[in-house]
Amino acid sequence: LPALDAGALRADFPILAQSVNDQRLVYLDSAATSQKPQAVIDTEIAFLAQTNSAVHRGAHTLAAEATVLFEDARARVAAFVGADEEQLVWTSGATAGINLIAYSIGNATVGRGGSDARRFALAPGDEIVVTEAEHHANLIPWQELAARTGAVLRHIPVHEDGTLALDAAASLISARTRIVAFPHISNVLGIINPVAELVILAQSVGALTVLDACQSAPHVPLDLPALGVDLAVFSGHKMLGPYAIGGLYGRAEILDALPPFMTGGSMITTVTLDSADYLPAPQRFEAGTQPVSQAIALAAAVEYLDAVGMTAIHAHERVLERRMREGLRRIDGIRLLGDAADGVDRVALSAFEVQGVHAHDVGQFLDARGIAVRVGHHCAQPLHRRFGMTASVRASASLYNTEEDIDMLLDGVSGVRSFFGVTA
Ligand code: PMP
Repeated sequence: LPALDAGALRADFPILAQSVNDQRLVYLDSAATSQKPQAVIDTEIAFLAQTNSAVHRGAHTLAAEATVLFEDARARVAAFVGADEEQLVWTSGATAGINLIAYSIGNATVGRGGSDARRFALAPGDEIVVTEAEHHANLIPWQELAARTGAVLRHIPVHEDGTLALDAAASLISARTRIVAFPHISNVLGIINPVAELVILAQSVGALTVLDACQSAPHVPLDLPALGVDLAVFSGHKMLGPYAIGGLYGRAEILDALPPFMTGGSMITTVTLDSADYLPAPQRFEAGTQPVSQAIALAAAVEYLDAVGMTAIHAHERVLERRMREGLRRIDGIRLLGDAADGVDRVALSAFEVQGVHAHDVGQFLDARGIAVRVGHHCAQPLHRRFGMTASVRASASLYNTEEDIDMLLDGVSGVRSFFGVTA
């Protein structure tokens, strides 16, 4: 397998050529949002400049061309996650995808959808299981669904080393469990969770599985049907694509049975003043005008990722990950969140605390050196609370980061405590 040449790839990302605060930009905030290669930017501009038209209304040439590009993009992005095109619903992002699922289940609970939708209906006392490591996007929609239906929300704890407490999961997931929602990779811990084990536990009690694949889609080869989950979401802007586009993957029989959440134009067959018949999935879940240029540019993004190769990307990021983690471990006063043993498979993402210095101060100190990291709770307050913190610093790398970037981070972090006069 040819090793990935991140130094060469950098040249494809125009933003990385900039200096920030008169320093070479060291962008280590890809878990928040990734940078975009020129090919993605060009694809979106070319569509807007040459083809832009309403899709699925093919009365004129450009509309027909736009429709072909849009549906080809669906097939391309679906293939990237191992799926067929009718298994991919466009959303505006992962948050929208999870809300779509939760509200659809809520609609099934109040009797909407066909007879096959009843299997999703929740009754008071039914249980929804999440993990302690959720991004708020995979937590609050379930809190809301539980509040609306009388279901009970439970969580799988996280060990001190950041791995999921699978033994606890085995006793938590019971005949009462109807939904098990979990992240493939937490945006704070970076550890690849054991999807297969959780799917087996959920399937053994007939529960629906929902995978938050936001942090895995840009970093590891992904085959959602092979993982066996019922539903999964991912976000385009984290995988070299534009904002406001994401995907919801569903097994065909699940998408066919779920009632819609958003309703309106483009998702119907026949409408009277009193009722409407809906199109099959995926269009049933795509009411209103879709993010067309963004979908087409996301297809260019996954083409870019595939051309580099997801296996090579993961291998490269493992090298960066080890360098970052081993380096951080050596710096005095650093506490890593979820510092699992080296054998645990993960992506190049580390959240840490510099003891005695507020995360925001660390962020500013690094920013002055051109190093972009994220600080705060990273939309994962319960997980920070579990580690006894309110905020952390998170460095997250991607295919365009080099070992030099990691060394600049380590050099920066090692100067923080003395700069702020912390001696203890
Ligand atoms: N889940 C995880 C694990 C995430 O990292 C994010 C983005 N920070 C989301 C969900 C939400 O994605 P979006 O804001 O793009 O909808």
